[in-house]
Amino acid sequence: MSRRLSLLTPSGRLTLGNLLGALRPMRAAQAEADCFYGISDLHALTTPRSPETLRGAITEQATLLLAAGLDGSTLFRQSRVPAHAELAYLLECVATTGELGRMIQFKEKSRRQDSVRASLFTYPVLMAADILLYRPTQVPVGDDQRQHLELTRDLALRFNTTYGEVFTLPEITVPPAGARVMDLAEPDRKMSKSGPDGGSIALLDPPDVVRRKVARAVTDSETGPDAVRAARAAKPGVTNLIEILAACGGSADGITTYGALKTAVTDAVVAELEPLQERYRALAADPVHVTEVYARGAERCREVTAPVLAAARSAMGL
Ligand code: AMP
Repeated sequence: MSRRLSLLTPSGRLTLGNLLGALRPMRAAQAEADCFYGISDLHALTTPRSPETLRGAITEQATLLLAAGLDGSTLFRQSRVPAHAELAYLLECVATTGELGRMIQFKEKSRRQDSVRASLFTYPVLMAADILLYRPTQVPVGDDQRQHLELTRDLALRFNTTYGEVFTLPEITVPPAGARVMDLAEPDRKMSKSGPDGGSIALLDPPDVVRRKVARAVTDSETGPDAVRAARAAKPGVTNLIEILAACGGSADGITTYGALKTAVTDAVVAELEPLQERYRALAADPVHVTEVYARGAERCREVTAPVLAAARSAMGL
């Protein structure tokens, strides 16, 4: 059985974009692969946030992954599997500052800041460790992570050449064009868990909040019988609403006004989120169960990754 790995960083509240673009495909993958899904809490430390905020985000995300139906996978917290941090250090000893300095994400995230954490510079190496520890054959990545995946392959190859064959080089695959949900207030940018709240629907937003956010969604000034149509470049806001409606099982066919479109989108999104929120409430009332699921997951991760870490250590002479 093939192995699949995905990590989600608790850097904010999971959004409708995360559900349609990540959690849903992750749930579907459980039918055909041995899935490892992690909460990359170490990656969340690359930017400052208070311990209370981080703890809250981790608990919420852990519960949401279960509520989203990922209980057929090995669920774990990255910080509870020490092999991640340890292999990251070993890989830092084969990475160079030059190649890390060329990472576009680092350049973008550190721009206009006087000082950034050293971990923001090295996190692509931690990401390489996250992946290589599990020896997945294929890693599906979106465009924004492609450079990091190439770095992962470069590091694995350099390690193998220098110290001996330890790592399997993961194949980079481009997932089929999935849902890409845009921000409701600024439809030219992706809906993001760390972006402004107004244009972003959080998975735990109650129905009245969803209604208000959709009602305020940016459209355009076109009127007439053909105003409700998809045209990504000319009508980004309306296109986004039509796509969200379709992804939530509805259809814009026969809808002619933006008001009616927004009502349909609200109803579809609320219907999509309701069962998830109900499961979330039940799970949140039983935190011990959630903790146990993740503890079992971490245990399996420690077993699976131990031989890889041991081989890397030994190859380097430790
Ligand atoms: P991020 O929230 O950017 O850390 O991404 C976590 C996962 O959710 C990745 O698989 C992303 O591709 C997916 N994702 C995040 N935002 C969106 C969005 N607005 N539309 C579709 N997928 C998204």
